[in-house]
Amino acid sequence: MRVRFWGTRGSIAKPGPGTVRYGGNTSCVQVRTLAGTLLILDCGTGAHGLGHALEAARTGPLRGHILITHTHWDHIQGVPFFLPLFVAGNEWDVYAPRGLRESVRETLAGQMQYTYFPVSLDQFAATVRFHDLVEGTFAIDDVRVTARYLNHPALTLGYRLEADGVVLVYATDHEPHSRALASGDASALAGEDRRHVEFLTGADLLIHDAQYTAAEYRDKVGWGHSPVESVVAAARAAGAQRLVLFHHDPLRDDAALDLVVAAARRQAGPDLEVTAAAEGQTLDVVATSVVPGPDRAAPVAAEAAPPREMLARSVLVALDPGPLREQLLAAVHADDLTVVTPADAADVVALVGEAPPSVLLLGRRIGGRDGLEVCRALRATPEGVAAALPIVIVAAGEAEADRTGGAQAGVTDWLVAPFSTLYARTRVRAWALRQACRWMRAPLPPDEPERLRALHDSGVLDSPAEERFDRITRLARRVFDVPIALVSLVDADRQWFKSHQGLDVRETHREVSFCAHAIHDDRVFIVPDALADPRFADNPAVTGAIRARFYAGRPIRMFGRRVGTLCLVDRRPRELRDDDVRALNDLATLVEEELAAGGVNPFPA
Ligand SMILES: [Zn+2]
Ligand SMILES: [Zn+2]
Repeated sequence: MRVRFWGTRGSIAKPGPGTVRYGGNTSCVQVRTLAGTLLILDCGTGAHGLGHALEAARTGPLRGHILITHTHWDHIQGVPFFLPLFVAGNEWDVYAPRGLRESVRETLAGQMQYTYFPVSLDQFAATVRFHDLVEGTFAIDDVRVTARYLNHPALTLGYRLEADGVVLVYATDHEPHSRALASGDASALAGEDRRHVEFLTGADLLIHDAQYTAAEYRDKVGWGHSPVESVVAAARAAGAQRLVLFHHDPLRDDAALDLVVAAARRQAGPDLEVTAAAEGQTLDVVATSVVPGPDRAAPVAAEAAPPREMLARSVLVALDPGPLREQLLAAVHADDLTVVTPADAADVVALVGEAPPSVLLLGRRIGGRDGLEVCRALRATPEGVAAALPIVIVAAGEAEADRTGGAQAGVTDWLVAPFSTLYARTRVRAWALRQACRWMRAPLPPDEPERLRALHDSGVLDSPAEERFDRITRLARRVFDVPIALVSLVDADRQWFKSHQGLDVRETHREVSFCAHAIHDDRVFIVPDALADPRFADNPAVTGAIRARFYAGRPIRMFGRRVGTLCLVDRRPRELRDDDVRALNDLATLVEEELAAGGVNPFPA
C-alpha cells in the first residue's frame, strides 16, 4: 500500500514561504493498494494537484473512490476542482457520513450552488456515485474499510483501511473525550476514548489530527482537534507502528512544526516512529505491527440506511431546569429533532416505556433522584426498549462523573460539562444515528459481576477444544438437524465458544450475541425467525455472513450462575417442539456436568 500526501494543512490553505516544506494545501491523501485500487482520503485544496497528476498519468478511464471524513470546507473544497470528475468515461464513488436529513450528494451540491461556484454538481461528466455512510464496515474492492465516528463539532468519520496485509488508519478532525487523555495520559482509558484507541489498534500507519499542542489546546477545548501529546499517548496505547501528525495548524510554520515533531519523538520513545505529514511525500506502508486489530467477526454494514421511523424518534432530555438543560435543548433543537422533557424520574420511566426515544440525556440528578439510580431502574425493566436505549448521563463537572458507578448502572456514555452546544449536538446526533441503524443489544444481567467471576474462576475461557464438549455439539447438530451448534460462554465483551460446530470463528463480539439475551432466564430462549423480530433483524449475525434466522439457546450454569448456553442456529426460520426443548435441556445438562468436572479430561481429543 502506497500513500502520498497532497494536502496536510487544517482549517484553511496556507501557502507561502513559511510552509514550503510541510505544505499549505488542506487535507487530501492518496492511497493505492498493490492491486491498483485508488482511494482518496478527503478532498481539500490538495485535490487540485492530485486531479491534474492523475489525468496526466492515466492510460485509460480513471476508476477511484473518494472517502470524505466530513463536509467542513477544508475537507471538500477541492471537489469542484478535481479534474477527473469532469472527464467522461471516468468512474468515481464518493463516500461521506450521512446527516440526519441531508444526503452526501445534497451537501456537496450545496458548495457548488450558483452563488458560490459557476459549475454545478450535475455537470460532472464522469459517472459519480454517492454513498451515505454510518459507523460500520464495508468493502471497496480489495480494501476493507471500517468507519467510526470521531469527536468533532460536525458528524465526522475516521477510516481504517485494511489491505495488502497492512492497516492504515486515517483519523483527522478529532479531539480526546477525557481531560486525562488530552493531557497525554492514556493509562486509564474509558468509554469513547477507549473505543477510539481500539479503532487505532495495530495500525502500521496512523495519520492523525494533531493540530494543537497541549498548551494551545487549553483554549481550544471543543474545537474538535487533538493536542499532539494525546495523539502520541493514544498511538502508543494502540500499539501503532508509525504515527504521521496531520491537519497542521495554519499558524504553524515549518520551523515551529519541526519543534513539535521533536517533542513528540521524545514522548513517543523508541517503539513508535513519529513524523509530520509533508505535501508531496510518499510513504510505503509495510506490515510491522504485531498487535491484533479489533474483533472483525461480525461487521456492521456502514451503508445501512436508517429506517425512517427510527430517525423520527424523539430525544428525551431529563434534567433539572438550569443552564445545562437549556444548552442541551438548544443543541437538540438545532438538529430539528423532536424533544421530550420529562418532569421527574417516574415520568422518564413511563415515557421510555410508552414511546422509545432514540437517546436519553439524563441529569446526574433529576427531580430529587440520582440519575444513576434511574438508569439502573430502566435497565432492570425485564423486556423492551430500555435495554438497548443509549443512556447518556450529563454531569456538571468531572467531580460529578462517577464512571465506575455508571458502568455498573448501565450508563452508555457521559457528557461532562463544560461542553459547547456544537459538541453536544454532534454527540446526540451520533447516538441517534447509531441507534437508528442498530439492532437491540442485550442488557447486562443483574448478577453480571458474580456471573463473570464464576466464569473467570472456572479457567475454561480460552482453553483448548475438547472432545467431551465437541461430541455434545455434534450430537446436537444431528438431533436437531441444524447447521450450527455451539457451547457459548458470555464473557465481558465477547462470547467465546468452548465448542463450535458449523462456525469457523472461536468468538464473536458480545454486542451481536443472541446468547447474551438467553442468559437472562433459565428457560430455553427461542427466536423462531430473527428477520421477523425487531430485536434481531438488523443484527450482523443475521444480516452478515453467519445468516442466522433461527436461534435456540439453553442457559448453562457454573457455580450457580448462568455463564453461557448450549445453542442451536439455523439459516431458516423454524419452531422448536416441546420434546425438542426437553432434548436440548438434556444435552445442556451434559455440558454443565462436563464443566463441573473441571479441567480433568479423561479422554483428550
Ligand atoms: Zn479540518
Ligand atoms: Zn472539521
